[in-house]
Amino acid sequence: MAMSADLESVPLHIVPGRAEIDLPAAQRAVADLLTALGRDPHSAHLADTPRRVADAYAEMLTPREFELTTFPNDEGYDELVLAKDIPVQSLCEHHLLPFTGVAHVGYLPGERILGLSKLARVVELFARDFQVQERLTKQVADWLQDHLAPKGVGVVIEAEHQCMSLRGVRATGSRTVTSSLHGTLRENPSSRQEFFALTGLTP
Ligand code: ZN
Repeated sequence: MAMSADLESVPLHIVPGRAEIDLPAAQRAVADLLTALGRDPHSAHLADTPRRVADAYAEMLTPREFELTTFPNDEGYDELVLAKDIPVQSLCEHHLLPFTGVAHVGYLPGERILGLSKLARVVELFARDFQVQERLTKQVADWLQDHLAPKGVGVVIEAEHQCMSLRGVRATGSRTVTSSLHGTLRENPSSRQEFFALTGLTP
């Protein structure tokens, strides 16, 4: 495929500062946890559980590689680009339990635009980690601001936390909503209102 000189492509999957996963150590730790919880990790039913759990966490903590491809905004498109209901699957860093939901990610293009599927990949890049929802929301917004230099960015995440539905208050179905805005979407009240209205949230 011919590559346009204007097309910028950068492979991404490693989040800076994150250490590699030590699978054998994780397996030993899961076996120890089972023992500490009064279970026998060597019983026939649990014999393979440490390996499965370690593999599952490794997968849940590893974003898929993607190419960040941006294109010149030749037509000068200057309206909001919004990807709604992007799936979010992450792990709460306080309980190591999943939180899942959707992200709505929008931006007002500047000089460059981004392939639409990449918005979902940026969410995954930060969601596949031990997280708190507030930080995840801000990391996605900051990353888009830094890499795309748009006129504005808006990120809303709505998620249900298993640590709230399975334990503690046991508030099944309760959704937590967080948002992070940059540029015009933050500063201009009508842009901000348009963004929230399009996400289905009333400001
Ligand atoms: Zn939690």
